[in-house]
Amino acid sequence: MKYIGAHVSAAGGIEHAVANAVAIGATAFALFTKNQKRWSAPPLAEKNVTAFKLACATQGFSPQQILPHDSYLINLGHPQQDKLEKSRQAFIDEIQRCEVLGLTRLNFHPGSHLREITESSCLSLVAESINLALAETKNVVAVIENTAGQGSNIGYSFEQLAEIIRQVNDSQRVGVCLDTCHLFAAGYDLRNGTACDETFDQFSRLIGFDRLYGMHLNDSKTALGRHVDRHAPLGDGELGWPVFEYILSDSRFDGIPLILETTEPERWPDEIAALKRFAGQ
Ligand SMILES: [Zn+2]
Ligand SMILES: [Zn+2]
Repeated sequence: MKYIGAHVSAAGGIEHAVANAVAIGATAFALFTKNQKRWSAPPLAEKNVTAFKLACATQGFSPQQILPHDSYLINLGHPQQDKLEKSRQAFIDEIQRCEVLGLTRLNFHPGSHLREITESSCLSLVAESINLALAETKNVVAVIENTAGQGSNIGYSFEQLAEIIRQVNDSQRVGVCLDTCHLFAAGYDLRNGTACDETFDQFSRLIGFDRLYGMHLNDSKTALGRHVDRHAPLGDGELGWPVFEYILSDSRFDGIPLILETTEPERWPDEIAALKRFAGQ
């Protein structure tokens, strides 16, 4: 079974995310559990939590169909101690919000070295941040997203993701979300079946499909290996449709949220319908 959806708005109350997902024909969704551009947010109100859980139950969304994303401000590999500490606190709060909502995975970008420390030190800081957060929480899996390698962002190669995972103590609670646009921008070709075979075989060897907790399905406005993160609607970018047909017809991508973060939300219903057709659903 393929779970297909998009990163929907939770404006006006977290429970609205469920209705927004249903409205576009989604069987999976991503959301922010707080304003993603702010450091802190009031705790989730009990009435919203109850309404969210009820809506999920009514509409048939289980936790494995939902992939919350943390705030973009958080940098778990920040080279400066005070800012690192601030990020770590915010990250723990994000996990706790997932716990309150009964959700079991949190998607995040690993971090940036800001050209002040080496990539390898930054990877270790990220792993240490994950260790601290997992020790203070339970039941939520830390889902690391691969990046385009834009600026000083780390986590753009399978080797780097594998290195973070290797340094995480609780192996049961760390996984990966692969973003197709980021993969391509980082230099992993996905433009045809052979290229997809090669890229996902590498992923399988270095990380393993048992660690795959979600995918972001985005076309890419920029060319292979340019390290520039610009999402495009499916079929409108450098990738084209083949990679999406490949993923939707491959059972290794079953049972995880497949999430659109494409740039024209008005096209999400059509994109989801096309993906469902590829999956034969
Ligand atoms: Zn993404
Ligand atoms: Zn992106």
